[in-house]
This record gives sequence, C-alpha cells and structure tokens, in this order.
Amino acid sequence: MPRYVYDFTEGGRDMAGVLGGKGANLAEMTRMGLPVPPGFTVTTEACRAFLASGTEPEGLQQEIAGRLAALERTAGRRLGQPDDPLLLSVRSGARFSMPGMMDTILDIGLTDESVLGLAKVSGQDRFAWDSYRRLLQMFGSTVMGVDGALFENALAALKTARNAPDDLHLDAADLAGLVETYQQLIRRETGEDFPQDPAEQLRRAVHAVFASWNGERARVYRRREHIPDDLGTAVNIQMMVFGNRGSDSGSGVAFTRDPATGRPGVYGDYLTNAQGEDVVAGIRNTVALDELERLDPESYRQLRGHMQTLEHHYRDLCDIEFTVERGRLWMLQTRVGKRTAEAAFAIAAELVEENLITPDEALARVSGEGLARLMFPRFDTTGLGAPLAHGIPASPGAAVGVAVFDSAEAVRRAAAGEKVVLVRQETNPDDLPGMVAAQAVLTSRGGKTSHAAVVARGMGKVCVCGAEEITVDTVARRFTADGVTVEEGTVISVDGSEGAVRLGSVPLADSEVMRYFETGEESAGLVGVVARTMQQADAVRKLGVRANADTPEDAARARRFGAEGIGLCRTEHMFLGERRKLVEAMILARTDAERDRALEGLLPLQRQDFVGILAAMDGLPVTIRLLDPPLHEFLPDRTELAVRVAATQAHGDAPDAHDGELLEAVNRMHEENPMLGLRGVRLGLVVPGLVAMQVRAVAEAVAERRRAGGDPKAEIMVPLVDTVEEIHIVRAEVERVLAEVSEATGITVDCPVGTMIELPRAALTAGRIAEEAAFFSFGTNDLTQTTWGFSRDDVEAAFFSAYLEQGIFKVSPFETIDREGVGRLVEIAVTEGRAARPDLKIGVCGEHGGDPDSVHFFHGVGLDYVSCSPFRVPIARLEAGRAALPDTEGSDSR
Ligand code: PEP
Ligand code: MG
Repeated sequence: MPRYVYDFTEGGRDMAGVLGGKGANLAEMTRMGLPVPPGFTVTTEACRAFLASGTEPEGLQQEIAGRLAALERTAGRRLGQPDDPLLLSVRSGARFSMPGMMDTILDIGLTDESVLGLAKVSGQDRFAWDSYRRLLQMFGSTVMGVDGALFENALAALKTARNAPDDLHLDAADLAGLVETYQQLIRRETGEDFPQDPAEQLRRAVHAVFASWNGERARVYRRREHIPDDLGTAVNIQMMVFGNRGSDSGSGVAFTRDPATGRPGVYGDYLTNAQGEDVVAGIRNTVALDELERLDPESYRQLRGHMQTLEHHYRDLCDIEFTVERGRLWMLQTRVGKRTAEAAFAIAAELVEENLITPDEALARVSGEGLARLMFPRFDTTGLGAPLAHGIPASPGAAVGVAVFDSAEAVRRAAAGEKVVLVRQETNPDDLPGMVAAQAVLTSRGGKTSHAAVVARGMGKVCVCGAEEITVDTVARRFTADGVTVEEGTVISVDGSEGAVRLGSVPLADSEVMRYFETGEESAGLVGVVARTMQQADAVRKLGVRANADTPEDAARARRFGAEGIGLCRTEHMFLGERRKLVEAMILARTDAERDRALEGLLPLQRQDFVGILAAMDGLPVTIRLLDPPLHEFLPDRTELAVRVAATQAHGDAPDAHDGELLEAVNRMHEENPMLGLRGVRLGLVVPGLVAMQVRAVAEAVAERRRAGGDPKAEIMVPLVDTVEEIHIVRAEVERVLAEVSEATGITVDCPVGTMIELPRAALTAGRIAEEAAFFSFGTNDLTQTTWGFSRDDVEAAFFSAYLEQGIFKVSPFETIDREGVGRLVEIAVTEGRAARPDLKIGVCGEHGGDPDSVHFFHGVGLDYVSCSPFRVPIARLEAGRAALPDTEGSDSR
C-alpha cells in the first residue's frame, strides 16, 4: 500500500514531487536544525487519489491519525483540547510554487469551548478570539463555500461601528461578537453549523486543500505557467505558532537578496501582531524588515543567521516566511525565490564569484526568455508606486499613448499623429486596423493566445491582455481600475514585459543589454554579467546559431548578435516594391522572349541583393532559398482589381487593358488553398527560367565578391520538396547554371545544393532525398502546418485559445515544437538522412529555431545548427549553451 504521510523529520528537498515544494523545504529546514514548528505532509499522491475517486484513499485517515497522535505527544496537548488546545495549520503546497492559488486554513482545532481554554492558558482573551474569528473566516469560505466577501463586509461593518481604523483596534469583546456574527453567517449561508469537532475540522480542511488543486484560479494559473494538471498538491499539517499574540509577535516575509535587482542585502516586510496571509494581504501597512532589528533585535539576529544558512545551503536566493511568537522566531517556509530576469543574471554571476556555484550552474539558472526581456526597451519605474492594473504580459515591450476604446478612434487619432493605446474588453478581427494604428493593445479579458495576444505578437506590438482588474466601458469610452476612472484621451503606459498598466507617461530607458549586443561594448554591472554568461554559453554549446535574414542590414545585425551565418535568406521580398512591375511582366508573359526579358530585368537586382548579404556575412555560410510563395501573391488583390475593372465598365469607359490582363491572370492563378498549392519547388519546375535566374544571380554575386577579395559562402536551398525527383531536376538546373557562370567569369562557383524538409513526405523519405541534397534545413512552420493539417494563418485566431483552454495544447505548436508528432518526423529525417549521407549538414530555420524549449529539442536530436530572426540569436545562443549542460541543478524556473 502506498505511503501517504511523511513527518517533517523524514523528508528532504529532493522529495518535492511527493511532498510538494513547501513540504520538501519544511523537511529540509527541519533536518538542518532550523526552528520549524513540528508537523507532517500528506503526499501529492493522496491528492491525486482523492481527486480521481472523490474519496480519501484507503488508509489515509489512519496514517494522519497516527502522525497527529505523535505530534500531540510532542506538543504535550491534544488537537482542540478544551483547556489548552493544540491548533494546526493546513496548507497547500504543490511541486511548483503556485502562490496564492490554492487554499490554506489556520487555527484548526478551535471551538466554542477550546477558545475559552486558549484565552485562559494564554492569558490573552483578544488573541484567542482573534484566532477563532480567523478560523471561522477561512474555514467558512474555503471549506464551507461561503462567499469570502460576506466575512470581509461584516468585519468592515464592525470596524466602522467601533470607529476602528484597523483590526488592532478591535478588542476581545468585539472579536467575540464577530465570532457570533460569523457563525450566524455560516448557518444562514450553508444551513449548517460550523463543526465543533476538531477532528472533523481537520479532515474537511484537508479535503478542501485537495479540491483547491482544481479550483478555477489554480487551473488558470497552471495553464499560464505550463504546469501539468495531473500533479496534485501536497497538504502540510503543522503546529500553529502565533504572530497575533501582541506587540512582541508578528509575521514576515524575507528575501536573502533583492528579487528585483539581485543586489545582496536583506529585503522583506514585517507586520506586528499579525498572522499568516496578513503580511501579503495588505490589511495594515507593513514595515521594512530592517525595522525588526529595532523591535526585536534577538529575533532579527537569528533570522539573519538563518537566511545566510539557507542561502549557502540552497546556493541561491531564498524567500522565507517566518513568525515571531512572543519573541521566539519560527521558520514557516522557504523556497528558492522567484526573481526578475535582471536579478536572475545578477544573482547567478554573484554566486559564481562567491564560489557557491560553477559557471555551468550559473548558465543553467538564467533563461533565454529572461534574456529576451532584458533586450526590450523598458520603463524606468524607479520611484513610481504600484501599477494601476496587472494583466498577462502577452507581447513584450513598453509603450505610451492615450487610451482609445475602438478601432476607428485609434485609426483617426493615429492618423492625426497621436500615439494611442487601444483598450478593449477583448479584440476581434474588426479591431485589426486599430491594432495596427496603436502603440499597444490592452484587454481586460483573454489569455496569452487570445486574439489580441496572438495578433499583437505577430505584429511585434506591445500587448497586455486579460487585465481583469480593469472594467472597460466602451459606450462611455472609459475604463476603471483600482477605483480610478480613465477617460478616453488619457495617457497611459503599458508594459508588455511585466504585464503592467500605469497612469501617465512613464519614461523609457533604452536596453543597455541591447546596446551591448549592437555595439559589443562591455561595461560593468548587468551588461558585464550578460556578456560573461554569453561567453559561457558559447563555450559549451554544440549547436551552431545562424540567423534568418534577407537584407544586408539584417545580416550585419545578426552577425553583431553572434550569428554564425544565415540559415534562411528568403528571396521573396526581393520580388516586391518597385520590382513588382518586372514580376508582373514575368507572370503575364505570353512568349518565352517576353518572360526572358522580365527575368533579365530582375537578375541584376537580385544579384545586388546577394552581393550585399554575402559581404555582410563574409566567410560565413549564407543559405539562399529559391522563391517559395505562390506567384499570385505578387499580383494585386483579386477583389480590388475586380472592383476597379467593374467600376470602370460601369462608368461606360473601356477597362484598362493592363488591369484586364492582370485580373485574368489573378483569376487563372487563384487557389482555394494556396498554402498547399503551386508554390516552392513546384513553382521552379513549372515557370521556365525562374530557377535559372535566381541561381545565376547567386553565382554572379559569389563571383563578384570573390573578385573583390571576399570569401562568399553561398548555399542554395530548395523549398517545399516532397520527393527526391523534384530536387534531382532542380539540382541539375542549378549545376548547369553554376557551370555556365564559372565558365563565363573564370571563377569556379561551387555552391552546395540542399533542401528544406517541411513536408511530412519529405521527412519520411529523407533517406532518398539525402542522396541528392548536401544539407537539410527543417522548415518547421510548414512542417507543423502540414503535419497537423491546419493553416497557421487561419487557425491561431480561430480555435487555438479553445484548444489551450481545453488542454488539447499545452502551448501552441507554432511556438514550441510538438515533440511527439512534428518532432518525431524530424528525428526520422535526421536518422535516415544521416544514414544515407553521413556528412549531411542539418539545421532548422522555422520559427522554432529561436524558441528556448525547441532549441533544447534540436540539440537533443543532434542538429548542427538552429536559425532564427536576428533579435533571437542571443537567445538561441544562450539556450543552446544551456541545452548542452550536463544535468546541473538549475533554479526552479517556474
Ligand atoms: C518554414 O516553413 O518553417 C520556413 C522556414 O519557411 P516559411 O516560413 O518561409 O514558409
Ligand atoms: Mg516554409
């Protein structure tokens, strides 16, 4: 039979899976000899069993009873003993910290009888009644389901009646009266009396904590943090110690370093004569932890000592909850504390300097996501108070503008030169023009994959979504938050990195980290720390990191950011703008001669593009992909054109001949599903001269760079290959043109020809394809679309949020590689490709190449490199380094 209960003396920090984070760390502190009130932990397995069956697993009650008896012996009194009650706290604690998301019940064991015993034995009536009213409030709301606001209202009414500014001004008689009120409230709301049997209180409290794992708040939080739903929570049952016994008692929280900046020192808050959640709930103003030194020097001294012990033991920033009961210090919780991205880098570097961790461990403790946050311009919030509202940081960056409440107003004001923030309950496709016009988008509803979030991220626009504290009134054109009303036209600042909204214009600070990547100039402080971390990552990583870039400027930036070449140069942008006329001519050509003329017009322009890029990446590989999208994308919009032609006809004028021809071509090329239509290599095989023109442009650019003394390393990549025959034919054409250019220029141009693997069939026949391809590059965008059978452009806004909501996706497969499906195809292609051609070079150039989790996967399957957008190059470098680390003990990143 499984074991469901562990005493604090039996566990340890490595048992977080079984005991939850809090239980494991309480056990660890107990083992270290720190003053932890005695107690025991009910395992996560018991919770899982309870949630699966709806009842307690067999044997749990007996185990708890056994442990409780032992605890009672240690304490020298029984749970709820009428003349001197032992009281218990019952606290949740999952594997990963989910702050405030699940339930806690304190003071279990108080009854109408034992409250009198507690008053007598403590000699403190007020303390006893205060504890009892707290129990009624917590038990009533979390266990018995009474709306918590009813208790708050009753407390507020009593304070008003007594003219009491806070709870400390209520005396024992007031609190005894409040207990009576609460009991009536419970009876009225539930039809049941508050249980007077301490054992029943305990049992029901444990059940309530189990059940709180599936509470709405907890589920929403898990989804956001990607915490699996099937872990369950442990329950910690512990002897109560009391911070509410008078001015010589109190509760506090402490950090061993500043979690915002990482600076060493003592940070925290303390609240005299208070219990449990009071400190974080903001019921009274807390004092800075330093104050404790004045209030209770001995407890402060001990606390400082324990903090140091813990930091050395955990070798990391610890956050701590403690209570002082009549001058005696008790440690109630510790964990490796959450921190900002800046603090994560700073602390890791300092711990290396203090010889507490190795550089590899320091690398494990930072993240690409954190680095990305440091690269955006940020608000300088020094000296500013708390934000007006919080939401989900959906698309990072900082933006300032006036609040507007619909798309049309956003467009109107933006056109007049105003900076605007579009505020909506949630957005829909009709809001798109407004989103484009706005600096930032703020919504009160919806998650990370809501329409607002997906679209804003796609546009690189700042977005905070699901800011539930704000109420949007689009009719009155205003929103309210925290009692403040913000009318249309009011300036607000939106921080998409932190998910915060502030009133007024918060000044912007350039990212010094971004400046470092741009210039390579190191400096002290954060930049120096980041630079050292990057060096460590570069030293250990096995994966190469290239960039997706198709202009010389992007290529140069990518190189400054540390790219070791270009993994994907998309050639389609080279067919836009002024060149459109030539492209149109190529498409409309009726004869070979006409087409050749158009292609000849494009050739020098393409060549110049490649010369610039090859120069920027001199000495490094540049993978140039042949044209991929369907040709009609380069023609005018079909509807627009049809309307123009029809309007001219309606005026009785003869339609413009060119427009007529264009419309005819657009109609001819129209596809219901262009994503699966005439594109990629298929285009090259049916449009004569297209491949030859592009390859000639590449080859001539290489020759030109060589003549100029450069070291160009162009590679030619064929997109959307399904079968080996396609690449066989294209390769022959490529080689023919290369030979021609070599002959004509007298310079041997020899570019490797490879292929993208972005269709399931290509992955499944990779062994055959490798016979013809010198390299593979996984196009995981298309590979994801075609493996799942959905089009990215259509589905993200249509049903992704529903899929995430229902747990079908943990994360969008376009964001993080779907290891099970798409990843399996990648593995097959790597294995079979390398079997056919051992020196096959393999990379990835889909968006996943810059996604931290996916980078770890690509490292695992043995790719040679990842390629991503220039701005993500540092992130990919960092994560590639972390992926290569032996299993070091990183900080808990959740
Ligand atoms: C891909 O499909 O992953 C890819 C890189 O190509 P594109 O995004 O241009 O289709
Ligand atoms: Mg593709």
